[in-house]
Amino acid sequence: MSSNNPQTREWQALSSDHHLAPFSDFKQLKEKGPRIITNAKGVYLWDSEGNKILDGMAGLWCVAIGYGREELADAASKQMRELPYYNLFFQTAHPPALQLAKAISDIAPEGMNHVFFTGSGSEGNDTVLRLVRHYWAIKGQPSKKVIISRVNGYHGSTVAGASLGGMTYMHEQGDLPIPGIVHIPQPYWFGEGGDMTPDEFGVWAAEQLEKKILELGVDNVGAFIAEPIQGAGGVIVPPDTYWPKIKEILAKYDILFVADEVICGFGRTGEWFGSDFYDLKPDLMTIAKGLTSGYIPMGGVIVRDEVVRVLNEGGDFNHGFTYSGHPVAAAVGLENIRILSEEKIVERVKSETAPYLQKRLRELSDHPLVGEVRGVGMLGAIELVKDKATRERYVGKGAGMICRTFCFNNGLIMRAVGDTMIISPPLVITFAEIDELIEKARKCLDLTLESLQG
Ligand SMILES: *Cc1c(COP(=O)(O)O)cnc(C)c1O
Repeated sequence: MSSNNPQTREWQALSSDHHLAPFSDFKQLKEKGPRIITNAKGVYLWDSEGNKILDGMAGLWCVAIGYGREELADAASKQMRELPYYNLFFQTAHPPALQLAKAISDIAPEGMNHVFFTGSGSEGNDTVLRLVRHYWAIKGQPSKKVIISRVNGYHGSTVAGASLGGMTYMHEQGDLPIPGIVHIPQPYWFGEGGDMTPDEFGVWAAEQLEKKILELGVDNVGAFIAEPIQGAGGVIVPPDTYWPKIKEILAKYDILFVADEVICGFGRTGEWFGSDFYDLKPDLMTIAKGLTSGYIPMGGVIVRDEVVRVLNEGGDFNHGFTYSGHPVAAAVGLENIRILSEEKIVERVKSETAPYLQKRLRELSDHPLVGEVRGVGMLGAIELVKDKATRERYVGKGAGMICRTFCFNNGLIMRAVGDTMIISPPLVITFAEIDELIEKARKCLDLTLESLQG
């Protein structure tokens, strides 16, 4: 990339000399140098070369209320001056964490009124694993240890998080998953549905849960964990038959259900939680990302009343983080929820902007490179294929990466998961900004097709 700003080179040198970046090929990044993002406002980012970029991913799915909201900066600064830090260990607490727990309970599904705070979504899922096993031990069923998860689910990058997740490329590094975590197939019809209809495939994928419970023995199974819609796996919206069938199976067996709401939570589907959207009744929900709109790290686990009742009988829960419920993060989270509520951002997503985004997105279905467009709320996926009818891919061409690079260079951030292009824009995106997103996406699809055929 040619540079207009000498500072870009300096920052890239700092990266090369001192920084190890997450989920990156260190050597390759050293040679290429990262794009330096310097500031942001609304749905737009600016890089150090002065390029303006529409952020179709809301950072990493997190910047729900958009960039540059002074209120969150003010809330952080006020809290830092008043009480920058104290912990929740040893029978102490502080107002921001307590007020945030209440604010989350107010928007959470009925019967979910307690929150355990963590510093991230991964820590939230580590907490889930420990809570589930603690719960069954208290109930006198300590053998119910195994957690069933799904292939290509994403639950974070700590050892437990990456184990719960079903990303084989993550498991391959470091002998994961840890014992006691098993994976069943995902409800990804476009990629794996074969000759089945989406509805048939949805039932089949759900039945894999029952099969696995019976294979392990229900006395050994503690919980099933799943994202309502898989995010990092490629915005996989399950067939309509999937969640109803899963609910039927969960009702039959005495195991806990954990909804990982780290992406779906806080309005992304047009409801407060993905569990509201699909009418799921989780026992535990992992949250992070949209909780603070990414302005500051925070995560947590929302716990159903019946589960809390059992935990209350269990004595000490020997688990927690120095930054559990950090007062500054909590103050920012509170202000973020206030903005989402008072500005009716979630309602607007549901009734206005998400229907418009989904309609415009589906117009891309006519593109020769596009095999399927799907999405819910402010989540979308575009499947790149060689043959629309057979769903055949451009094997070994890296179509997704080619498209992602064209997007980057044309002022749009879309992410590529294999040959699936995905979007998850800030919830505050306007009609005009959606038009711009679609226009840029179409242009980049054209450029990608040209490049693949050239
Ligand atoms: C991002 C993500 C996580 C992990 O959250 P971190 O804050 O990165 O640790 C967990 N689950 C889902 C569904 C996620 O998208």
